Amino acid sequence: MRVLLAEDDDLLGDGLKTGLKQEGYTVDWVKDGQSAENALLDNEFDLVVLDLGLPKKAGLEVLKQLRNSGKHIPVLILTARDSVQDRVTGLDSGADDYLVKPFDLEELCARLRVLQRRTAGRSAPVIIHGGISLDPAAHKVLLNGDAINLSMREFVLLQHLMENIGRVIPRARLEEKLYGWDAEVESNSLEVFIHHLRKKLGADFIRTVRGVGYMIE
Ligand code: CA
Repeated sequence: MRVLLAEDDDLLGDGLKTGLKQEGYTVDWVKDGQSAENALLDNEFDLVVLDLGLPKKAGLEVLKQLRNSGKHIPVLILTARDSVQDRVTGLDSGADDYLVKPFDLEELCARLRVLQRRTAGRSAPVIIHGGISLDPAAHKVLLNGDAINLSMREFVLLQHLMENIGRVIPRARLEEKLYGWDAEVESNSLEVFIHHLRKKLGADFIRTVRGVGYMIE
């Protein structure tokens, strides 16, 4: 899952980026509202964590513009001020959830999982399909009841495919999920991850759609 993190506090932003990456998220971090807006125009994110008090452009303005442009991407706002009005305005402007600083990373991650579930249209915390069950919170995958060991990137890839059953996911989109802005993408690395997943889960579980991408039927 690819997250845009908009936070101008270096210490907090750094901690959040590190913590979210450890949870398997691909994190792109911007430190002002204008950069957040540009990033949202040019990229596909799954989630946005948006500080309201940002330089250059306030978080609330970024949020309003995002919603005006018709994008439904889930947004969780962060607010330092213990102001009820702030949060009400944020929610009424199109935010999906909020956290008041200081908060716990664990709670942030749990709330992000809820937003992902809601976006995927499910309320059950575990995704089950074709003998495979995937638990995003526990980072566990079972095949016919037996635990399967997956690397973080294999897990992220499988989760994204399982959240979009019946839909072909283009290669470029899957690569974005895995890498964001940070790392150089090696041309065959997606194939390598898919190959590993097939070895662990069965050759037929993930289908290749030639010239387009991958899907689970
Ligand atoms: Ca701030």
